[in-house]
Amino acid sequence: MYKHYLFDGSKKLELKKEATDDFKYVKDRKDAEELMAKNLKTINDLQLKLYAEKKEGVIFLFQAMDAAGKDGTIRAVLSCLSPHGVYESAFKVPSSDELAHDFLWRVAAKVPAKGEIAIFNRSQYEDVLIGKVKQLYLAQANAKRIDPEKIIDNRYRDIVNFENYLYDNNVRTIKFFLHLSKEEQADRFLSRIEEPEKNWKFSAGDYEERKYWKAYQDAFEAAINKTATKQSPWYVIPADHKWYMRYIVSEIIKDTLTDMSPDYPEVTPERKAELAKYKAELKKEIKK
Ligand code: ATP
Ligand code: MG
Repeated sequence: MYKHYLFDGSKKLELKKEATDDFKYVKDRKDAEELMAKNLKTINDLQLKLYAEKKEGVIFLFQAMDAAGKDGTIRAVLSCLSPHGVYESAFKVPSSDELAHDFLWRVAAKVPAKGEIAIFNRSQYEDVLIGKVKQLYLAQANAKRIDPEKIIDNRYRDIVNFENYLYDNNVRTIKFFLHLSKEEQADRFLSRIEEPEKNWKFSAGDYEERKYWKAYQDAFEAAINKTATKQSPWYVIPADHKWYMRYIVSEIIKDTLTDMSPDYPEVTPERKAELAKYKAELKKEIKK
């Protein structure tokens, strides 16, 4: 199931060969919505166990071009989860404080604890996406010994090392690229202009970025190929049909949590005896 979308280093991604509009695993919207509702229940159940057990954390990371539906997908998934131990971190244009540090500094601060789920809305990958496309590092302060030609390649390496480090310290990273076509983006921007209640979502900046579409696609392809590993895989998901994209995301989250196999902490015989003692004491206080 959905393995076609998995990139874990065992095959090369050629983005232009990946469909943005397929729905090969579920053809019908109603079916997908029903299956997704079921998945969300299972996800909720597993999250409660994960939180109780506190042995492993997980990051679900989302990257996409504008209007691919990142926010809606994140909302749909979060809506089923208890707020305890689940949070979203959005990575925006770095502040001056963030820029004064290494690029992973602000990301490390948002790594979940064992038992927690972190949803990353954008991430460390921005530094090899917009950072690469716009060559932002040229305008940033760097020591004389830093070779600008090597910055992006070094970041790919650092991201892989960082994700391996987290993996070995009980935190998984699962990465989603929501793959939208340029035409579908134009269509969604148009409805942001035509429908008054969506006007707030349209920004001239987003429109300007369309000029760099090809450069962004190349940057995504390179970033995914350089950082896809068994432990921290990428999923490239067709995003032109939102219902399909959300359903596939829910499948992957469900399967990831299932693979983590969380369970409520075991009750030891000592603990059982202790609970029995408290039960007896409490019962004395209840008159009837
Ligand atoms: P929405 O528009 O749906 O509210 P968004 O994630 O697009 O959500 P914006 O504030 O519009 O939020 O955009 C965030 C911007 O910050 C994006 O253009 C992104 O490329 C940029 N950004 C994020 N991280 C970095 C970074 N490390 N360096 C430079 N730009 C970054
Ligand atoms: Mg935006």
